[in-house]
Amino acid sequence: MISDDQDEVIDKSADPWTAHDETMASIGFWAMARQLPVLIGQVLRECWAVSKRDTAALVLCSLIAEVFTAVGLLATTNVLERLFAGGPTPERLRAAAPALFLILAAVVLRGTLRQAAVWVRSRLDPQIRRSLRVRLLESTTGVRLSAFDDDVFHNTLHRVRERAQHAVRLLLEGTLRLLAGGISLIAVGGVLTVLHPVLLPLMLLALAPTWWASVRTAHLSYEVYAASSGAERRLETLTTLMADRGPAGEVRAYTMRDFLLREFRQLAVHVQDRTLRMERRQAVSQSIGEALSAAGVGVVYLVLGVLLFAGALPLAVAGTAVVAIQTAMSTLRGVVESLHWTYENALYYRDYLNFLAAAHERRERRGGVRPPPEVDRIRARGLTFTYPSGDRPALNGVDIDIEPGEIIALVGENGSGKTTLAKILSGLYEPDSGTVTYGGVPLTDIDLELLRDRIAVIAQNFTHWPFSARQNITIGRADHPQSATALKQAAAAAGADEVFAELPKGADTLLDPTYAGGSELSGGQWQRIAVARGLYRDAPLLICDEPTAALDARTEHAIFETIRRHAAQRTVVLITHRLASVRYADRIYVLDHGRIAEHGAHRELMSRNGIYAEFYNLQARAYE
Ligand code: ADP
Repeated sequence: MISDDQDEVIDKSADPWTAHDETMASIGFWAMARQLPVLIGQVLRECWAVSKRDTAALVLCSLIAEVFTAVGLLATTNVLERLFAGGPTPERLRAAAPALFLILAAVVLRGTLRQAAVWVRSRLDPQIRRSLRVRLLESTTGVRLSAFDDDVFHNTLHRVRERAQHAVRLLLEGTLRLLAGGISLIAVGGVLTVLHPVLLPLMLLALAPTWWASVRTAHLSYEVYAASSGAERRLETLTTLMADRGPAGEVRAYTMRDFLLREFRQLAVHVQDRTLRMERRQAVSQSIGEALSAAGVGVVYLVLGVLLFAGALPLAVAGTAVVAIQTAMSTLRGVVESLHWTYENALYYRDYLNFLAAAHERRERRGGVRPPPEVDRIRARGLTFTYPSGDRPALNGVDIDIEPGEIIALVGENGSGKTTLAKILSGLYEPDSGTVTYGGVPLTDIDLELLRDRIAVIAQNFTHWPFSARQNITIGRADHPQSATALKQAAAAAGADEVFAELPKGADTLLDPTYAGGSELSGGQWQRIAVARGLYRDAPLLICDEPTAALDARTEHAIFETIRRHAAQRTVVLITHRLASVRYADRIYVLDHGRIAEHGAHRELMSRNGIYAEFYNLQARAYE
């Protein structure tokens, strides 16, 4: 009944960024209702894991507080019964006095305990937030790289980052309120049933439409929110473009402001319209629910009248009955509201759990054999790979051999597959078909963590880590046995020592000018740092992807010399367009549209007069 008309609300055709998430579509109302107790249990376990003491205190305080609510409620009916009984007023007051004191005590105790519960909850909240955030990051850093090419992964991650922490807090709150409501309901139900057994079922029936409306509303909110996560993520991307330091210069230089703002406005209006449509539907559902419930309540009073009229209920308890019905009504409303609250937040929390589960499924392989000592005798056969979003293979049947101590160059036009090949060789992506062996052992059998330990990658799009210059080089190798000497050597070899010299606090300068005391480097200076990072890693296999693109001629020459020296003891895979630097490679593989077009040493390739010779002569001519 709830998901039938979702498509109309979500209107997937109009928004190219609408999330088409399979996991979302599969939530039926009953499935969710069945999952609710499990999710509640999970939340309580989540709390228990961060603090047993606080969780126990919270549940106990909340439960006992509600027991006092129930006691107060029962005492109230007792007072009313005595006040409405026959006899002189002072007598009746005296008879009601003990129950009145009980009410007073219950109110005081309940108030104190509720306050204690609020305090404990505010203690639990930051602990849960911390735990959820850490777990999320443990999970995002443990998934296979290919997950980051998947929009469902990003959309769910976006929702989880936005909502999960709050959802857990609110779900916990909802659960406690539900628990409290349940206890009150038992007390009120008892009173009503004693008055007349038909009253409680009738009231439950009367409030059923409100309950239906609130669950439907919760479901609508979630569905629309989930479907909008692609668009919301896009809005966030656009916000970053307009509010972050990186693109700020280009936004101005290319006068992109109007374009970006227009894109943002269009999408924001779309998201807003979708939300407004949802709000309208929610309002309609709620009005229907309320109207039906109001009619139901009317029926309850009608039945009460009939019971009184027929003498099934003594007139003396009519007042008590009216008060009891009103109390029951507000308790039931509270329960319905808590259910709504719990239900909606359980949907968001479910997202979080689903994300963790999906991330676990896609986690990087751990375990396996140690990489053999000849980690750099690499053999790849028939490698084929298509990116999840790609429509043609980035690699198509690639064979490559790398012997220990060799310099292997990968050359080819942009987009020919060089970087992809390097990523597959270093175990960052798994090929769709084909094999890579290290020292004769298939890559799929080798422990990835240990393998990566033996590889240093100087990536083309390396990260500008917002840490100190020193940390930018030593990052990932904090336990280097001779860190000081190694840092000095790596920095000198890459020309990073000259960069340090110009920084206000030398190697300890923070490389992020958006923080106080932070500095920025030029593109070439950054590249020297990145090269130093690769050299400092001191791994038997060095993969350099365009290591000198941003370097000045002198530094470039020095770096290639360093790489050649480095290669005397190690294996180097070098991707570069500077063919003059490739001449010295032991073997050159020329990639073309994901295939190896030709391979061999410089001389052989020149004499073949193929693609390589053409590129080389073009570059050589440019220098003449
Ligand atoms: P090269 O390093 O030779 O310039 P790449 O290996 O980076 O080429 O890219 C090969 C092909 O794969 C290109 O067509 C590129 O558009 C595509 N590609 C690269 N990375 C991705 C990605 N993450 N998702 C989808 N396609 C990609």
